[in-house]
Amino acid sequence: MIVGGGFGGLAAAKALKRAPVHVTLVDRTNHHLFQPLLYQVATSVLTPGHIATPIRGILRNQKNTTVILGEVTGVDKDQRRVFVNTADREGVALHYDYLILATGVRHSYFGRNEFEKFAPGLKSLADAVAIRNKILHAFEQAEAEEDPSCHRDLLTIVLVGAGPTGVEMASAIAVLIRNTLQSEFRRIDPASARIVLVDMSPRVLGSFSEELSKAAKNRLEQLGVEIRLGHGVDQIDEEGVIVAGERIASKTVIWTAGVAPSPAGKWLSAETDRAGRVRIQKDLTVPSHPEIFVVGDTASLDQDGKPLPGVAQVAMQQGRYAGKMIRARINGSSTPGPFRYFDKGNMAVVGKGFAVLQSGKVRLSGFVAWLAWAAVHLEFLATSSLRLSVFVQWVWTYLTGQRGSRLIVNHRGQEQASQKPTEQAAPKAMPAIK
Ligand SMILES: Cc1cc2nc3c(=O)[nH]c(=O)nc-3n(C[C@H](O)[C@H](O)[C@H](O)COP(=O)(O)OP(=O)(O)OC[C@H]3O[C@@H](n4cnc5c(N)ncnc54)[C@H](O)[C@@H]3O)c2cc1C
Repeated sequence: MIVGGGFGGLAAAKALKRAPVHVTLVDRTNHHLFQPLLYQVATSVLTPGHIATPIRGILRNQKNTTVILGEVTGVDKDQRRVFVNTADREGVALHYDYLILATGVRHSYFGRNEFEKFAPGLKSLADAVAIRNKILHAFEQAEAEEDPSCHRDLLTIVLVGAGPTGVEMASAIAVLIRNTLQSEFRRIDPASARIVLVDMSPRVLGSFSEELSKAAKNRLEQLGVEIRLGHGVDQIDEEGVIVAGERIASKTVIWTAGVAPSPAGKWLSAETDRAGRVRIQKDLTVPSHPEIFVVGDTASLDQDGKPLPGVAQVAMQQGRYAGKMIRARINGSSTPGPFRYFDKGNMAVVGKGFAVLQSGKVRLSGFVAWLAWAAVHLEFLATSSLRLSVFVQWVWTYLTGQRGSRLIVNHRGQEQASQKPTEQAAPKAMPAIK
């Protein structure tokens, strides 16, 4: 039983392809999502279909694997069962001999959950489309507004968190505004929009070397992004944010600061680290339960005295390892030695044609790093059709500045809500016609 069809879960399922087992993979969404490119959906470069693929489509040739769309709500370790809510049933019990939990993380607002309403985070396709709607809507609303003094908060975008996601989003928004939107509005000048990146840490991209962090900061400033470091946000509300006592009026605040693990630790009543991730052993199992593996973002494992980072490569390598370990145990062959993460390096994009890359002793920034970033991301997309369509879209956007999707697509409820004033106005007009 594998719970989660993200990077870790999918790698585990693939590693079990030729094993004499029946694999059941449960995910609460029907798709595998390539999260590193979510920011490109949020900033209109790509469409949701470019970065997500149905899990059962990816595993269609893997005859020993069944995919179930459902949300796992708990685990009974003694009876070896997981409980799943499906479309029409709750708490369906599914038996396992081996369990791999790969349920990832969610947003964390560091105890200030009231911020979520005003500052959405970026974790799912729905989040990315909601943020895209929010950004595009702010420009539409500003264009429709006659009084320019009302524009400031509409044309101010604040990103909280200057890690890779915050930096990539801030730079991509700057490019969207200055390259694509600039020529399309008449009452407002989109280029006058303010993009503010806030973080309490003293530098952007804190996980990169100081020199790359500085290169990224310079690039952001060239793109017109205002950077406020050394202070967290004290307050986020419908008026904007308060940073170091100063209010920044903004209708578009985006949260890229923190993550919290899935409830896997609670389901297992297992020991967790301070961040709530399940502490696992060197073979990725939970102490006293050699049949339960936890991999990826929701697991906590130290290597050389440091916790492994929450990145796709860790999840994929761990998922593959867990699959191989189960296969070896079932086949009675020799089991792999302790898990060891092979770090291929870190990358982040800072606007058009510029990235920073850190791999071993190599430190690169600029266009060559961006080419490497593009090649690596294309390689890790789930299918060859996605690789081709994303490549074509990137070339098109690079050459023309035009985007993959700038549609504001609201949920049905919101569309109906926005029609209400017109519907209400109609009866008033009727008597006059009579
Ligand atoms: C915006 C963003 C940008 C990122 N950029 C990078 C990057 O550039 N490079 C990099 O290496 N990493 C990046 N990451 C991190 C990387 O995506 C994660 O480390 C990786 O996805 C972890 O894989 P995972 O399998 O642990 O979890 P995920 O890939 O998150 O998969 C978890 C899966 O479990 C499912 N699930 C969760 N709970 C349940 C439940 N209760 N029942 C059923 N299913 C459930 C989810 O639907 C999901 O499919 C980024 C992450 C984000 C959010």
